[in-house]
Amino acid sequence: MGLLDRAGARLTAHPEEAEILVVNTCSFIDTAKQESVDTILEMARHKTGGRARKLIVAGCLVERYRDEIQKNIPEVDAVVGTGELEAILEAAGLAPTPAPAAPSPFNILSSAAEVRSGRESQAGTHKTSLSAHDRSGTTLLQNQNSPKGRQEGDHRERAGRFRRDAWTGASHLLPTYLYDETTPRLLSTPRASAYIKIAEGCDHPCTFCVIPNLRGKFRSRRFESVVAEAEALVARGVREITLIGQDTTCYGEDFGMKDGLATLLDSLARIPDLRWLRFLYAYPNRITGKLLETIARHDNICKYLDLPLQHASPDVLKRMKRGAGAEIFLKTLHKVRAAVPNIALRTSFIVGFPGESLRDFEVLEEFIQEAKFDWLGVFNYSHEEGSAAYALDAQVPQRSIESRRKRLMKLQQSISRESKQDWVGRELTLLAEGESAETPLLWEGRTQFHAPEIDGKVYINDCGTLENLEAGRFYRAEITEAHDYDLVARIVAPED
Ligand code: SF4
Repeated sequence: MGLLDRAGARLTAHPEEAEILVVNTCSFIDTAKQESVDTILEMARHKTGGRARKLIVAGCLVERYRDEIQKNIPEVDAVVGTGELEAILEAAGLAPTPAPAAPSPFNILSSAAEVRSGRESQAGTHKTSLSAHDRSGTTLLQNQNSPKGRQEGDHRERAGRFRRDAWTGASHLLPTYLYDETTPRLLSTPRASAYIKIAEGCDHPCTFCVIPNLRGKFRSRRFESVVAEAEALVARGVREITLIGQDTTCYGEDFGMKDGLATLLDSLARIPDLRWLRFLYAYPNRITGKLLETIARHDNICKYLDLPLQHASPDVLKRMKRGAGAEIFLKTLHKVRAAVPNIALRTSFIVGFPGESLRDFEVLEEFIQEAKFDWLGVFNYSHEEGSAAYALDAQVPQRSIESRRKRLMKLQQSISRESKQDWVGRELTLLAEGESAETPLLWEGRTQFHAPEIDGKVYINDCGTLENLEAGRFYRAEITEAHDYDLVARIVAPED
Protein backbone atom coordinates (compact mmCIF):
# COMPACT_ATOMS: atom_id res chain seq x y z
CA MET A 1 0.00 0.00 0.00
CA GLY A 2 2.88 2.34 0.78
CA LEU A 3 4.53 1.74 -2.59
CA LEU A 4 1.27 2.35 -4.43
CA ASP A 5 0.50 5.45 -2.42
CA ARG A 6 3.93 6.91 -3.08
CA ALA A 7 3.54 6.26 -6.78
CA GLY A 8 0.37 8.37 -6.81
CA ALA A 9 -2.43 5.84 -6.22
CA ARG A 10 -5.09 6.79 -3.67
CA LEU A 11 -6.48 4.08 -1.46
CA THR A 12 -10.17 3.36 -1.09
CA ALA A 13 -11.83 0.73 1.04
CA HIS A 14 -14.80 0.61 -1.35
CA PRO A 15 -14.18 -1.76 -4.28
CA GLU A 16 -16.97 -0.21 -6.34
CA GLU A 17 -14.99 3.07 -6.40
CA ALA A 18 -11.65 1.54 -7.31
CA GLU A 19 -9.99 1.53 -10.71
CA ILE A 20 -7.41 -0.99 -9.59
CA LEU A 21 -8.39 -3.84 -7.29
CA VAL A 22 -5.72 -5.66 -5.30
CA VAL A 23 -6.58 -8.87 -3.46
CA ASN A 24 -3.91 -9.81 -0.94
CA THR A 25 -4.23 -13.54 -0.35
CA CYS A 26 -3.32 -16.29 2.08
CA SER A 27 -2.96 -19.98 1.26
CA PHE A 28 -1.57 -21.91 4.20
CA ILE A 29 -4.73 -23.90 4.94
CA ASP A 30 -7.87 -24.85 3.05
CA THR A 31 -10.17 -22.26 4.61
CA ALA A 32 -7.69 -19.48 3.84
CA LYS A 33 -7.41 -20.59 0.21
CA GLN A 34 -11.18 -20.73 -0.10
CA GLU A 35 -11.59 -17.25 1.36
CA SER A 36 -8.92 -15.92 -1.01
CA VAL A 37 -10.53 -17.46 -4.09
CA ASP A 38 -14.01 -16.26 -3.05
CA THR A 39 -12.68 -12.73 -2.64
CA ILE A 40 -10.95 -12.78 -6.04
CA LEU A 41 -14.19 -13.91 -7.69
CA GLU A 42 -16.18 -11.28 -5.83
CA MET A 43 -13.74 -8.56 -6.95
CA ALA A 44 -13.77 -9.88 -10.53
CA ARG A 45 -17.47 -8.94 -10.68
CA HIS A 46 -16.53 -5.28 -10.15
CA LYS A 47 -14.37 -5.54 -13.22
CA THR A 48 -17.15 -6.70 -15.47
CA GLY A 49 -19.92 -4.49 -14.06
CA GLY A 50 -18.11 -1.54 -12.41
CA ARG A 51 -15.29 0.98 -12.65
CA ALA A 52 -12.40 -1.39 -12.11
CA ARG A 53 -9.90 -1.64 -14.95
CA LYS A 54 -7.40 -3.99 -13.37
CA LEU A 55 -7.51 -6.88 -10.94
CA ILE A 56 -4.24 -7.83 -9.25
CA VAL A 57 -3.80 -10.88 -7.03
CA ALA A 58 -0.97 -10.65 -4.51
CA GLY A 59 0.43 -12.75 -1.67
CA CYS A 60 0.79 -16.40 -0.73
CA LEU A 61 -1.83 -17.85 -3.09
CA VAL A 62 0.36 -16.58 -5.93
CA GLU A 63 3.40 -18.38 -4.52
CA ARG A 64 1.43 -21.61 -4.62
CA TYR A 65 -0.88 -21.36 -7.65
CA ARG A 66 0.76 -18.73 -9.86
CA ASP A 67 -0.18 -20.31 -13.21
CA GLU A 68 -3.57 -21.64 -12.17
CA ILE A 69 -4.86 -18.27 -10.99
CA GLN A 70 -4.17 -16.68 -14.36
CA LYS A 71 -5.41 -19.70 -16.31
CA ASN A 72 -8.66 -20.16 -14.39
CA ILE A 73 -9.65 -16.58 -13.62
CA PRO A 74 -9.20 -14.59 -16.86
CA GLU A 75 -10.29 -11.35 -15.14
CA VAL A 76 -6.97 -11.37 -13.25
CA ASP A 77 -4.54 -9.02 -14.99
CA ALA A 78 -1.44 -9.65 -12.91
CA VAL A 79 -0.12 -11.69 -10.01
CA VAL A 80 2.46 -10.51 -7.47
CA GLY A 81 4.17 -13.01 -5.17
CA THR A 82 5.42 -12.34 -1.65
CA GLY A 83 8.98 -11.88 -2.85
CA GLU A 84 8.31 -9.32 -5.58
CA LEU A 85 6.47 -6.54 -3.80
CA GLU A 86 7.74 -3.80 -6.07
CA ALA A 87 6.19 -5.54 -9.08
CA ILE A 88 2.86 -4.22 -7.78
CA LEU A 89 3.68 -0.88 -9.43
CA GLU A 90 4.13 -2.33 -12.88
CA ALA A 91 1.06 -4.51 -12.38
CA ALA A 92 -0.95 -1.40 -11.50
CA GLY A 93 0.43 0.47 -14.53
CA LEU A 94 2.23 3.01 -12.33
CA ALA A 95 5.77 4.19 -12.95
CA PRO A 96 8.24 2.09 -10.99
CA THR A 97 10.62 3.97 -8.71
CA PRO A 98 13.86 4.44 -10.64
CA ALA A 99 17.08 3.18 -9.05
CA PRO A 100 19.86 5.71 -8.43
CA ALA A 101 22.75 5.76 -10.88
CA ALA A 102 25.28 4.34 -8.45
CA PRO A 103 23.67 2.30 -5.70
CA SER A 104 25.80 2.39 -2.59
CA PRO A 105 25.49 0.11 0.41
CA PHE A 106 26.15 3.16 2.57
CA ASN A 107 22.85 4.81 1.57
CA ILE A 108 21.11 2.58 4.05
CA LEU A 109 23.17 3.95 6.91
CA SER A 110 22.53 7.61 6.14
CA SER A 111 18.87 6.89 5.58
CA ALA A 112 18.53 5.10 8.92
CA ALA A 113 20.18 8.05 10.61
CA GLU A 114 17.75 10.40 8.86
CA VAL A 115 14.77 8.47 10.14
CA ARG A 116 16.30 8.34 13.61
CA SER A 117 16.86 12.06 13.68
CA GLY A 118 13.14 12.54 13.07
CA ARG A 119 13.36 13.50 9.41
CA GLU A 120 10.97 10.82 8.37
CA SER A 121 10.67 9.93 4.73
CA GLN A 122 8.41 12.41 3.01
CA ALA A 123 6.70 11.48 -0.23
CA GLY A 124 9.38 11.51 -2.84
CA THR A 125 12.35 11.80 -0.49
CA HIS A 126 13.31 8.20 -1.01
CA LYS A 127 11.83 7.95 -4.45
CA THR A 128 15.12 7.14 -6.05
CA SER A 129 16.63 5.11 -3.26
CA LEU A 130 14.15 2.34 -2.59
CA SER A 131 15.57 -0.18 -5.03
CA ALA A 132 19.06 0.61 -3.89
CA HIS A 133 18.11 0.04 -0.27
CA ASP A 134 16.60 -3.26 -1.10
CA ARG A 135 19.70 -4.26 -2.97
CA SER A 136 22.08 -2.94 -0.39
CA GLY A 137 19.92 -4.40 2.37
CA THR A 138 20.28 -7.80 0.79
CA THR A 139 24.02 -7.37 0.53
CA LEU A 140 24.20 -6.37 4.14
CA LEU A 141 22.12 -9.32 5.21
CA GLN A 142 24.35 -11.71 3.36
CA ASN A 143 27.33 -10.19 5.11
CA GLN A 144 25.57 -10.61 8.41
CA ASN A 145 25.12 -14.28 7.62
CA SER A 146 28.63 -14.87 8.83
CA PRO A 147 29.91 -18.40 9.50
CA LYS A 148 28.97 -17.72 13.13
CA GLY A 149 25.30 -17.43 12.12
CA ARG A 150 23.24 -20.58 11.98
CA GLN A 151 23.06 -22.47 8.73
CA GLU A 152 19.79 -24.23 9.56
CA GLY A 153 17.93 -22.94 6.51
CA ASP A 154 20.65 -24.22 4.17
CA HIS A 155 20.61 -27.66 5.82
CA ARG A 156 16.85 -27.81 5.60
CA GLU A 157 16.96 -26.71 1.97
CA ARG A 158 19.32 -29.58 1.15
CA ALA A 159 16.90 -31.91 2.93
CA GLY A 160 14.08 -30.63 0.69
CA ARG A 161 12.16 -28.54 3.26
CA PHE A 162 11.29 -25.72 0.87
CA ARG A 163 10.52 -27.75 -2.24
CA ARG A 164 7.50 -26.78 -4.28
CA ASP A 165 7.48 -29.74 -6.67
CA ALA A 166 4.06 -30.85 -5.45
CA TRP A 167 2.55 -27.55 -6.60
CA THR A 168 2.06 -27.50 -10.34
CA GLY A 169 2.74 -24.11 -11.87
CA ALA A 170 4.31 -22.58 -8.77
CA SER A 171 7.55 -20.72 -9.27
CA HIS A 172 10.55 -22.62 -7.93
CA LEU A 173 12.21 -19.46 -6.74
CA LEU A 174 11.83 -18.95 -3.01
CA PRO A 175 11.12 -15.37 -1.92
CA THR A 176 14.09 -13.56 -0.41
CA TYR A 177 12.48 -10.14 0.00
CA LEU A 178 12.71 -8.20 3.25
CA TYR A 179 11.38 -4.71 3.66
CA ASP A 180 13.32 -2.11 5.58
CA GLU A 181 12.72 1.14 7.39
CA THR A 182 12.80 3.13 4.15
CA THR A 183 10.06 1.08 2.49
CA PRO A 184 6.97 3.28 2.45
CA ARG A 185 4.08 2.00 4.56
CA LEU A 186 0.44 2.95 4.93
CA LEU A 187 -0.95 1.74 8.22
CA SER A 188 -4.31 0.02 8.07
CA THR A 189 -4.40 -0.41 11.84
CA PRO A 190 -5.92 2.20 14.21
CA ARG A 191 -3.59 5.18 14.60
CA ALA A 192 -2.12 4.23 17.98
CA SER A 193 -1.21 0.69 16.99
CA ALA A 194 1.14 -0.86 14.41
CA TYR A 195 2.72 -4.16 13.53
CA ILE A 196 6.39 -4.49 12.64
CA LYS A 197 7.60 -7.58 10.87
CA ILE A 198 11.05 -8.37 12.23
CA ALA A 199 11.80 -11.50 10.20
CA GLU A 200 10.49 -13.47 7.26
CA GLY A 201 10.35 -17.16 6.45
CA CYS A 202 10.87 -20.13 8.72
CA ASP A 203 13.37 -22.98 8.96
CA HIS A 204 11.37 -25.22 11.30
CA PRO A 205 10.41 -28.64 9.99
CA CYS A 206 6.78 -28.81 11.28
CA THR A 207 5.27 -31.50 9.07
CA PHE A 208 1.77 -29.98 8.78
CA CYS A 209 3.01 -26.60 7.65
CA VAL A 210 3.68 -25.23 4.17
CA ILE A 211 4.51 -21.70 5.30
CA PRO A 212 8.28 -22.22 4.81
CA ASN A 213 7.56 -23.44 1.24
CA LEU A 214 5.56 -20.26 0.69
CA ARG A 215 7.70 -17.74 2.53
CA GLY A 216 11.21 -19.11 2.16
CA LYS A 217 14.13 -19.48 4.49
CA PHE A 218 14.25 -17.64 7.80
CA ARG A 219 15.83 -14.23 7.51
CA SER A 220 15.90 -11.46 10.08
CA ARG A 221 15.65 -7.77 9.33
CA ARG A 222 18.64 -5.71 10.40
CA PHE A 223 18.50 -4.69 14.03
CA GLU A 224 18.99 -0.99 13.26
CA SER A 225 16.32 -1.10 10.59
CA VAL A 226 13.70 -2.41 13.04
CA VAL A 227 14.68 0.18 15.66
CA ALA A 228 14.58 2.99 13.07
CA GLU A 229 11.14 1.89 11.89
CA ALA A 230 9.81 1.72 15.45
CA GLU A 231 11.18 5.19 16.24
CA ALA A 232 9.60 6.60 13.09
CA LEU A 233 6.24 5.00 13.93
CA VAL A 234 6.28 6.38 17.47
CA ALA A 235 7.17 9.81 16.08
CA ARG A 236 3.99 9.50 13.96
CA GLY A 237 1.84 8.85 17.03
CA VAL A 238 1.95 5.07 17.32
CA ARG A 239 1.86 3.99 20.98
CA GLU A 240 1.59 0.22 20.67
CA ILE A 241 3.92 -1.93 18.57
CA THR A 242 3.39 -5.63 17.94
CA LEU A 243 6.38 -7.52 16.54
CA ILE A 244 5.56 -10.33 14.15
CA GLY A 245 7.32 -12.88 11.97
CA GLN A 246 6.73 -16.59 11.34
CA ASP A 247 8.92 -17.22 14.39
CA THR A 248 9.87 -14.09 16.29
CA THR A 249 11.93 -15.99 18.88
CA CYS A 250 14.54 -16.96 16.24
CA TYR A 251 15.20 -13.27 15.57
CA GLY A 252 18.89 -12.61 14.87
CA GLU A 253 20.00 -16.26 14.90
CA ASP A 254 20.81 -16.06 11.20
CA PHE A 255 23.43 -13.42 11.86
CA GLY A 256 24.87 -15.06 14.90
CA MET A 257 22.98 -13.22 17.65
CA LYS A 258 22.15 -15.05 20.82
CA ASP A 259 18.97 -13.92 22.52
CA GLY A 260 18.36 -11.59 19.57
CA LEU A 261 14.69 -11.01 20.39
CA ALA A 262 15.47 -10.12 24.01
CA THR A 263 18.14 -7.66 22.84
CA LEU A 264 15.77 -6.13 20.31
CA LEU A 265 12.96 -5.79 22.87
CA ASP A 266 15.38 -4.20 25.29
CA SER A 267 16.29 -1.53 22.70
CA LEU A 268 12.74 -0.90 21.54
CA ALA A 269 11.42 -0.61 25.10
CA ARG A 270 13.71 2.39 25.58
CA ILE A 271 11.94 4.44 22.89
CA PRO A 272 10.27 7.31 24.76
CA ASP A 273 6.47 7.42 24.33
CA LEU A 274 6.17 3.77 23.31
CA ARG A 275 3.51 2.60 25.77
CA TRP A 276 3.04 -1.04 24.79
CA LEU A 277 5.42 -3.41 23.05
CA ARG A 278 4.65 -7.07 22.44
CA PHE A 279 5.63 -9.91 20.13
CA LEU A 280 3.57 -12.78 18.75
CA TYR A 281 4.34 -16.36 17.57
CA ALA A 282 7.00 -17.57 19.99
CA TYR A 283 8.46 -21.04 19.53
CA PRO A 284 8.28 -23.07 22.79
CA ASN A 285 11.92 -24.12 23.06
CA ARG A 286 13.14 -20.57 22.41
CA ILE A 287 11.71 -19.06 25.61
CA THR A 288 14.97 -18.22 27.33
CA GLY A 289 15.56 -16.83 30.82
CA LYS A 290 16.90 -13.64 29.25
CA LEU A 291 13.74 -13.18 27.19
CA LEU A 292 11.53 -13.57 30.26
CA GLU A 293 13.74 -11.33 32.35
CA THR A 294 13.50 -8.65 29.62
CA ILE A 295 9.70 -8.87 29.55
CA ALA A 296 9.59 -8.60 33.34
CA ARG A 297 12.06 -5.69 33.53
CA HIS A 298 10.36 -3.18 31.24
CA ASP A 299 7.01 -1.69 32.22
CA ASN A 300 6.14 -1.02 28.58
CA ILE A 301 6.67 -4.61 27.42
CA CYS A 302 3.23 -6.18 27.69
CA LYS A 303 2.97 -9.07 30.11
CA TYR A 304 1.68 -11.23 27.32
CA LEU A 305 3.07 -14.30 25.59
CA ASP A 306 1.72 -15.95 22.47
CA LEU A 307 3.13 -19.46 22.38
CA PRO A 308 1.51 -21.69 19.74
CA LEU A 309 2.05 -25.24 21.05
CA GLN A 310 0.05 -27.13 18.35
CA HIS A 311 -0.49 -30.24 20.54
CA ALA A 312 0.44 -31.75 23.89
CA SER A 313 0.70 -35.48 23.14
CA PRO A 314 4.42 -36.37 22.73
CA ASP A 315 3.52 -38.90 20.01
CA VAL A 316 1.64 -36.37 17.92
CA LEU A 317 4.28 -33.68 18.47
CA LYS A 318 6.95 -36.14 17.37
CA ARG A 319 5.09 -36.81 14.13
CA MET A 320 4.61 -33.06 13.73
CA LYS A 321 8.43 -32.79 14.06
CA ARG A 322 8.08 -30.30 16.88
CA GLY A 323 9.02 -32.48 19.85
CA ALA A 324 8.32 -32.03 23.58
CA GLY A 325 4.93 -32.76 25.15
CA ALA A 326 2.59 -31.86 28.02
CA GLU A 327 5.12 -32.45 30.79
CA ILE A 328 7.80 -30.24 29.23
CA PHE A 329 5.27 -27.58 28.30
CA LEU A 330 3.94 -27.42 31.86
CA LYS A 331 7.49 -26.82 33.09
CA THR A 332 7.92 -24.05 30.51
CA LEU A 333 4.65 -22.41 31.57
CA HIS A 334 5.67 -22.65 35.20
CA LYS A 335 8.98 -20.95 34.37
CA VAL A 336 7.17 -18.22 32.43
CA ARG A 337 4.65 -17.53 35.19
CA ALA A 338 7.34 -17.52 37.87
CA ALA A 339 9.46 -15.02 35.93
CA VAL A 340 6.57 -12.77 34.86
CA PRO A 341 3.74 -12.89 37.41
CA ASN A 342 0.22 -12.36 36.00
CA ILE A 343 1.39 -12.79 32.43
CA ALA A 344 -1.42 -13.52 29.95
CA LEU A 345 -0.80 -16.65 27.89
CA ARG A 346 -2.20 -17.38 24.45
CA THR A 347 -1.73 -20.58 22.52
CA SER A 348 -3.21 -22.51 19.61
CA PHE A 349 -3.63 -26.19 18.87
CA ILE A 350 -4.33 -28.36 15.86
CA VAL A 351 -6.79 -31.23 16.25
CA GLY A 352 -7.06 -34.21 13.90
CA PHE A 353 -3.41 -34.48 12.85
CA PRO A 354 -2.97 -37.84 11.05
CA GLY A 355 -2.78 -40.67 13.58
CA GLU A 356 -4.18 -38.58 16.48
CA SER A 357 -5.80 -41.27 18.63
CA LEU A 358 -8.52 -40.70 21.18
CA ARG A 359 -5.86 -41.06 23.87
CA ASP A 360 -3.67 -38.40 22.18
CA PHE A 361 -6.67 -36.11 22.16
CA GLU A 362 -7.36 -36.78 25.85
CA VAL A 363 -3.74 -35.93 26.68
CA LEU A 364 -4.31 -32.58 24.98
CA GLU A 365 -7.57 -32.07 26.83
CA GLU A 366 -5.99 -32.82 30.20
CA PHE A 367 -3.12 -30.49 29.40
CA ILE A 368 -5.48 -27.61 28.55
CA GLN A 369 -7.35 -28.24 31.80
CA GLU A 370 -4.14 -28.01 33.77
CA ALA A 371 -2.35 -25.23 31.87
CA LYS A 372 -5.25 -22.74 32.11
CA PHE A 373 -4.46 -20.45 29.20
CA ASP A 374 -6.00 -17.00 29.06
CA TRP A 375 -6.58 -17.21 25.32
CA LEU A 376 -6.72 -20.30 23.17
CA GLY A 377 -7.43 -21.08 19.52
CA VAL A 378 -8.13 -24.51 18.05
CA PHE A 379 -7.67 -25.28 14.36
CA ASN A 380 -8.83 -28.29 12.40
CA TYR A 381 -5.97 -30.12 10.70
CA SER A 382 -5.78 -29.12 7.05
CA HIS A 383 -4.36 -31.72 4.66
CA GLU A 384 -1.96 -29.66 2.57
CA GLU A 385 -0.24 -30.93 -0.53
CA GLY A 386 3.47 -30.17 -0.28
CA SER A 387 3.58 -30.67 3.50
CA ALA A 388 5.45 -33.68 4.91
CA ALA A 389 2.27 -34.79 6.70
CA TYR A 390 0.51 -35.14 3.34
CA ALA A 391 2.14 -38.54 2.95
CA LEU A 392 1.03 -39.80 6.38
CA ASP A 393 -1.78 -42.30 6.60
CA ALA A 394 -4.29 -42.79 9.45
CA GLN A 395 -6.31 -39.72 8.54
CA VAL A 396 -8.79 -38.71 11.22
CA PRO A 397 -12.36 -38.45 9.85
CA GLN A 398 -13.59 -34.89 9.37
CA ARG A 399 -16.52 -35.39 11.74
CA SER A 400 -14.21 -36.47 14.58
CA ILE A 401 -11.91 -33.50 13.88
CA GLU A 402 -14.81 -31.07 14.15
CA SER A 403 -16.22 -32.66 17.29
CA ARG A 404 -12.77 -32.60 18.93
CA ARG A 405 -12.40 -28.93 18.10
CA LYS A 406 -15.79 -28.14 19.61
CA ARG A 407 -14.96 -30.16 22.73
CA LEU A 408 -11.79 -28.17 23.32
CA MET A 409 -13.47 -24.83 22.72
CA LYS A 410 -16.17 -25.76 25.23
CA LEU A 411 -13.53 -26.71 27.77
CA GLN A 412 -11.70 -23.44 27.23
CA GLN A 413 -14.96 -21.52 27.53
CA SER A 414 -15.49 -22.87 31.05
CA ILE A 415 -11.83 -22.20 32.00
CA SER A 416 -12.07 -18.68 30.63
CA ARG A 417 -15.45 -17.99 32.28
CA GLU A 418 -14.00 -18.87 35.66
CA SER A 419 -10.69 -17.04 35.29
CA LYS A 420 -12.25 -13.88 33.87
CA GLN A 421 -14.20 -13.46 37.13
CA ASP A 422 -10.88 -12.71 38.86
CA TRP A 423 -10.61 -9.58 36.72
CA VAL A 424 -13.68 -7.93 38.24
CA GLY A 425 -12.65 -5.03 40.49
CA ARG A 426 -9.16 -4.71 38.97
CA GLU A 427 -8.00 -1.27 37.81
CA LEU A 428 -6.02 -1.42 34.60
CA THR A 429 -4.71 0.73 31.79
CA LEU A 430 -7.03 0.54 28.80
CA LEU A 431 -6.40 1.61 25.23
CA ALA A 432 -9.69 2.98 23.88
CA GLU A 433 -10.21 1.80 20.31
CA GLY A 434 -13.50 3.39 19.31
CA GLU A 435 -17.20 2.67 19.12
CA SER A 436 -18.13 -0.97 19.31
CA ALA A 437 -18.90 -2.63 16.01
CA GLU A 438 -21.94 -4.16 17.73
CA THR A 439 -23.60 -1.03 19.09
CA PRO A 440 -22.78 2.70 19.18
CA LEU A 441 -23.84 2.67 22.85
CA LEU A 442 -20.63 0.92 23.82
CA TRP A 443 -16.97 1.58 23.20
CA GLU A 444 -14.28 -1.06 22.86
CA GLY A 445 -10.80 -1.13 24.28
CA ARG A 446 -7.93 -3.41 25.16
CA THR A 447 -5.60 -3.94 28.09
CA GLN A 448 -1.97 -5.05 27.77
CA PHE A 449 -3.32 -8.60 28.20
CA HIS A 450 -5.26 -8.38 24.93
CA ALA A 451 -3.34 -8.44 21.66
CA PRO A 452 -4.91 -6.51 18.77
CA GLU A 453 -7.65 -8.35 16.86
CA ILE A 454 -7.27 -11.85 18.29
CA ASP A 455 -8.23 -11.86 21.96
CA GLY A 456 -11.50 -11.09 23.78
CA LYS A 457 -12.79 -7.54 24.00
CA VAL A 458 -13.23 -5.01 26.77
CA TYR A 459 -16.52 -3.12 26.40
CA ILE A 460 -16.73 0.33 27.96
CA ASN A 461 -20.25 1.17 29.16
CA ASP A 462 -19.43 4.01 31.53
CA CYS A 463 -17.18 6.98 30.73
CA GLY A 464 -17.09 8.08 34.38
CA THR A 465 -16.83 11.85 34.64
CA LEU A 466 -15.64 12.25 31.04
CA GLU A 467 -17.96 13.54 28.34
CA ASN A 468 -16.21 11.75 25.51
CA LEU A 469 -13.51 9.20 24.96
CA GLU A 470 -10.81 9.55 22.37
CA ALA A 471 -9.82 6.58 20.21
CA GLY A 472 -6.12 5.80 20.54
CA ARG A 473 -5.84 7.23 24.07
CA PHE A 474 -5.02 5.39 27.26
CA TYR A 475 -7.32 5.48 30.27
CA ARG A 476 -7.37 4.12 33.77
CA ALA A 477 -10.37 1.77 33.93
CA GLU A 478 -12.03 -0.55 36.39
CA ILE A 479 -13.32 -3.94 35.26
CA THR A 480 -16.93 -4.16 36.39
CA GLU A 481 -18.22 -7.36 34.73
CA ALA A 482 -16.77 -10.53 33.23
CA HIS A 483 -18.34 -12.79 30.62
CA ASP A 484 -16.98 -15.98 29.01
CA TYR A 485 -14.29 -14.17 27.06
CA ASP A 486 -15.16 -10.48 27.20
CA LEU A 487 -15.00 -7.92 29.97
CA VAL A 488 -16.92 -4.72 30.77
CA ALA A 489 -15.14 -1.65 32.12
CA ARG A 490 -15.81 1.78 33.61
CA ILE A 491 -13.42 4.63 32.88
CA VAL A 492 -11.80 6.06 36.00
CA ALA A 493 -9.54 8.76 34.53
CA PRO A 494 -7.48 9.59 31.43
CA GLU A 495 -3.79 8.70 31.48
CA ASP A 496 -1.02 10.65 29.79
S1 SF4 B 1 7.26 -22.75 13.27
FE1 SF4 B 1 5.27 -22.05 12.51
S2 SF4 B 1 5.63 -21.25 10.42
FE2 SF4 B 1 7.43 -22.47 11.01
S3 SF4 B 1 7.05 -24.50 10.14
FE3 SF4 B 1 6.32 -24.55 12.28
S4 SF4 B 1 4.13 -23.97 12.21
FE4 SF4 B 1 5.06 -23.41 10.21
